[in-house]
Amino acid sequence: MVLAQLGGSISRALAQMSNATVIDEKVLNDCLNEISRALLQADVQFKMVRDMQTNIKRIVNLEALAAGTNKRRIMQQAVFTELCNMLDPGKPSFTPKKGKPSVVMFVGLQGSGKTTTCTKYAYYHQRKGFKPALVCADTFRAGAFDQLKQNATKAKIPFYGSYMESDPVKIAVEGVERFKKENCDLIIVDTSGRHKQEAALFEEMRQVSEATKPDLVIFVMDSSIGQAAFDQAQAFKQSASVGAVIITKMDGHAKGGGALSAVAATKSPVIFIGTGEHIDEFEVFDVKPFVSCLLGMGDWSGFMDKIHEVVPTDQQPELLQKLSEGSFTLRLMYEQFQNILKMGPIGQVFSMLPGFSAELMPKGHEKESQAKIKRYMTMMDSMTDAELDSTNPKLMTESRIIRTARGSGRPVRDVMDMLEEYKRLAKIWGKMKGLKIPKKGEMSALSRNMNV
Ligand code: GDP
Repeated sequence: MVLAQLGGSISRALAQMSNATVIDEKVLNDCLNEISRALLQADVQFKMVRDMQTNIKRIVNLEALAAGTNKRRIMQQAVFTELCNMLDPGKPSFTPKKGKPSVVMFVGLQGSGKTTTCTKYAYYHQRKGFKPALVCADTFRAGAFDQLKQNATKAKIPFYGSYMESDPVKIAVEGVERFKKENCDLIIVDTSGRHKQEAALFEEMRQVSEATKPDLVIFVMDSSIGQAAFDQAQAFKQSASVGAVIITKMDGHAKGGGALSAVAATKSPVIFIGTGEHIDEFEVFDVKPFVSCLLGMGDWSGFMDKIHEVVPTDQQPELLQKLSEGSFTLRLMYEQFQNILKMGPIGQVFSMLPGFSAELMPKGHEKESQAKIKRYMTMMDSMTDAELDSTNPKLMTESRIIRTARGSGRPVRDVMDMLEEYKRLAKIWGKMKGLKIPKKGEMSALSRNMNV
């Protein structure tokens, strides 16, 4: 995606700067101009780019750069901090809690991916132990209910809607009431995304909202609209008291930088991004890991150093070889878990990997993380050699998952959780594929090559 190119351009600008023998005002400015150009090309707002440039100049001390051995790191850190500030408008106004009934209403224009995203959101929470339900309050678009029904059935999520009733408010209220009675703790209301007139659309949203009293209104937006995202997000925010945003189609050719920064400029927190049409192509949006990924940082150099530090010397060549071949298997994950557990203070080792630490090893929850890793290992103990050595996640069919669950005395959901973790790690580690394996101390070359 275009964002990957952005990361590459920024990394190249930083690399060029660190190659310069003397870092003076001109070299610094050239580097900043290069970074700004890359951001503008990714459709980030001009004003934001200009502010960022000014802030970096203020943060970076030329003398420290000239003397510092790691100029690249100092500049990268400044760019990182500024990009994070730019994309971080704070926390959403509400986060669902398990066991406590909550209503979340989805709004957005037709075609933005709203219905698909409702199911993704429900499915995500279902896997976290919530009891979600879907209500289709879009009576304007023919086929909306069928689509929601189809998605919900596939994901085994209860749903409510009507082919006959034309009043969206009535359906929304009935659906919410029914699922509250059924003790669902996350009731998701999908609303219409189109009307004859825009004013009518906003009026309908207002009425559904007044009748169902949602705890959170989520605005769904297609990333391909780029800079126009600002006006759209602003309009929805004002009319429907939007508390959070989900940006879809970040997998496409869209200049995701534009949508993200524009939404951030409306001070609306982005909570998830859609990265494909499938139900699990949905990622928590976390500013820091996202930006480090974007900058190709993810602190790969630190990560490689840690591998040298943590993984016993005799295992290192094999591990690195496998990673460079792109074959991250469950067995490899098992062995790394063993290493982590042996190491002591958990969290240090992989905490620098984007997207990994926040989910598997949140800070301050080291004990739980450790228990989770042990659980994963117990489940893996019930897997066959073929399963552990495969790089094909499809090998784990339903019957194999059930067998593993039975064998380890864990619920099926836990096994699926573990496999999800594996898939996520495999995706991250897969980026090492094809890379020349560096020796200790040769890491900067690697991080320069890393391009998410
Ligand atoms: P709605 O009209 O807003 O409810 O939009 P839909 O949920 O019907 O989605 C419109 C189209 O966008 C469908 O073809 C979806 O499969 C597709 N879509 C939704 N989210 C994503 C995404 O994150 N990535 C990609 N590639 N396609 C998506």
